[in-house]
Amino acid sequence: MKKHNFSSGPAILPASVMEEAAKAVVDLDGIGLSILEMSHRSKEFTAILNEAVSLVHELLEISDDYSVLYLTGGASSQFYMTALNLLDDNETAAYLDTGAWSVKAIKEAVNFGAVEVVASSKDKNYTYVPKSFTTPSHAKYLHITSNNTIYGNQIHRLPDVDLPIVADMSSDIFSKKVDIKRYGLIYAGAQKNLGPAGTTLVIVRKDMLGKVQRTIPTMLDYRTHIKKNSAFNTPPVFPIYVCMLTLRWLKAQGGVAVMNEKNSVKADLLYKEIDDNPFFTGPVAKEDRSIMNCVFTINNKDLEGEFLKWCEAADISGIKGHRSVGGFRASMYNAMPIDSTKVLVNVMQEFAKKFG
Ligand code: PMP
Repeated sequence: MKKHNFSSGPAILPASVMEEAAKAVVDLDGIGLSILEMSHRSKEFTAILNEAVSLVHELLEISDDYSVLYLTGGASSQFYMTALNLLDDNETAAYLDTGAWSVKAIKEAVNFGAVEVVASSKDKNYTYVPKSFTTPSHAKYLHITSNNTIYGNQIHRLPDVDLPIVADMSSDIFSKKVDIKRYGLIYAGAQKNLGPAGTTLVIVRKDMLGKVQRTIPTMLDYRTHIKKNSAFNTPPVFPIYVCMLTLRWLKAQGGVAVMNEKNSVKADLLYKEIDDNPFFTGPVAKEDRSIMNCVFTINNKDLEGEFLKWCEAADISGIKGHRSVGGFRASMYNAMPIDSTKVLVNVMQEFAKKFG
């Protein structure tokens, strides 16, 4: 039986996508070749790549001022690629620190220019999103982590700034609408809402590029990949294929607005249980809680292992919190059915009855 998959990533994908991908590993659309053994320059793969790009434009309503790229190196490579391409040695970028992923982005960016951390919620273990801060007017961009996968905080309202925003959307892309005009660049590792690990989506406003003086290595220059439509070198064909299938699925579901409604229902259900159930606590400020990664703790730490055993017995997988936070984390990405959330809520209720 399929488990209730609450993994933070690589994460649950739609069952129909997995079935189609499995078939294509043997034979892609009956052409007599596996997706794994055909040229990335074949007409079949070119069509897949083009569709994977055009669906991103369509679903997020992105104009042609932006390029959509499928790169490698994970979201982690974007921590330095963004600064390398966008920030000159004598320039400043503003960074908002909402947790471990922001810290990693900052650590890389300081190698390329001046970084001003405009606000941080480290003082309260990242249980909120700082809201009142100012950004230097001369900053090139403001970098944010739209959803912090580890701490379970999410930026629900974009900061009121005039700067282009550079966003790490690894764990909430395609979960809701995006006001694309506000962004200079968006990046996201595929392995949560988009596909398997192995490719990273980058959406970049073209006029952000070509403004730094330094020499950028060919593979690290966004313009290389724009010019070659993400096929300068051999792209990760299978991950891109699965992303394309997931995007088709997303479109058939009604797109990101419909997804947002469904995700909110799941999140409301689980957070309500956390707040109502005397055994559990949700540490993140209510207005900043992530609808993707719901972090919670058990008040009696001695029962933590027991609760995990109950989850396992109910076929719930991937619920253990990140090692740096502890407790539990229920990741409920687009592909997670509400029934899985209901199973978890039921286990929490039964657990409280038994030990209450
Ligand atoms: N940013 C966020 C918000 C993440 O959740 C992750 C990974 N879970 C990363 C960056 C790093 O992604 P990758 O492992 O693809 O480098």
